[in-house]
Amino acid sequence: MTTWPVPGSESEEVPGGGKPGSFWEDRGDRFHCGVDIYAPAMSEVLACETAEVIDLGIATSPEEVSYWDTTRYVLVKTRSNLYCRYAEFADVLVHIGDRVLEGQVIGHVGTVIRPHLVDGCSPLYIQRLKLDGHLSMLHFEVYRLRPGYMRAYSGGNWFGSGRPEGLLDPGPYLRNAVHGIENY
Ligand SMILES: [Zn+2]
Repeated sequence: MTTWPVPGSESEEVPGGGKPGSFWEDRGDRFHCGVDIYAPAMSEVLACETAEVIDLGIATSPEEVSYWDTTRYVLVKTRSNLYCRYAEFADVLVHIGDRVLEGQVIGHVGTVIRPHLVDGCSPLYIQRLKLDGHLSMLHFEVYRLRPGYMRAYSGGNWFGSGRPEGLLDPGPYLRNAVHGIENY
């Protein structure tokens, strides 16, 4: 059993079936590496389970893509030896080496999209996020191996061939938090 990471989320349904924000959503020139949990900016993000913080960094930035706002990520290693990347934070309340407890607030949901910079030339999934008012979210990824970040990987999307090594569908992990089914 794990804890749902965003108590203030619009829904506790994990996006699936190719819907916006679902895992491995085909975004035309890229695939989505996690799931997006839409929530108001500055909603609290909780650790799904007890874990060690092993990396922190920038998830999106306007230096990389103009319509992105600056957000951060936290990579943790869980008790079950999975790697979870929580991303698109406004702020992060933990440090590398910290042990975070299940349910502990680790940061706050950030605003990813700067809508005034999204236009008809932006990727369609970005235009749709603007139309739907989904500008802030937790982006959540699960890996069986420690992920390596490379040029083919940006902003929670995969631009390369194949899949990032060790990447898992986070759906079962998150549904476990809602329904208590052991899937991992
Ligand atoms: Zn995402």
